[in-house]
Amino acid sequence: MIKRKLKALYLRLLFLLPHDNIYAFHNLSSHPALELTGRKLDTQAFYDFVRRHGPYVSLTDILASGNLSSKAAITFDDGLEDVYSIAYPFLTGQGIPFTAFILTDKLDQPGYLTTAQVVEMAQNPLVTIGSHGTDHTRLSAASPEKQRHELHASREKLQALLGRPCTLFAYPFGAYNQTTLALMKESGYRLACAVKGRPLLRGNHDDPYTIPRLSIDDTTLDLYDY
Ligand SMILES: [Zn+2]
Repeated sequence: MIKRKLKALYLRLLFLLPHDNIYAFHNLSSHPALELTGRKLDTQAFYDFVRRHGPYVSLTDILASGNLSSKAAITFDDGLEDVYSIAYPFLTGQGIPFTAFILTDKLDQPGYLTTAQVVEMAQNPLVTIGSHGTDHTRLSAASPEKQRHELHASREKLQALLGRPCTLFAYPFGAYNQTTLALMKESGYRLACAVKGRPLLRGNHDDPYTIPRLSIDDTTLDLYDY
């Protein structure tokens, strides 16, 4: 309890500094079986959070921008069906860009995005598709061979599907190790997102393969609602 209060106080101070925010959303509805990370947010809470924050720019634009001015970028991990059914109409209807990180082995599985949905969304200029690996492997615990497979197989599949380079990755569980970072440098990915529970601050996102994000879910909403 005291630890959480201290954390809240520390974050409150961080949010006083010049910053931008990259938000990571996961489950936006109720598919308990699909909660790979246990991170979920009620649909209405998602709508309310998005309305309270912004202005929104794309993930690549927020990182290209030199000025930290409380801009925000929206990302989704796991490639769940509610990215298409809930987030896509809500966000694109307001002209808000977002990035969806897809698990390529889960495409067309119950509760996950279908191939057709990913292809349709990718044609919208507001939507960017990135990779979340093939099957939600925790890379920091995987062999170098398996890590290489996760980076490359998912990328190849998305590139074949969409006919364009796939340059963005998000680590499952936000987890990576030195091997992951070495593989990233030779992978063809331009940037990779972690989940560090920190806004973008001066100097904390210089490495394109360890980009900090805030996971917005029902356990963190009160900490990051700035
Ligand atoms: Zn995930």
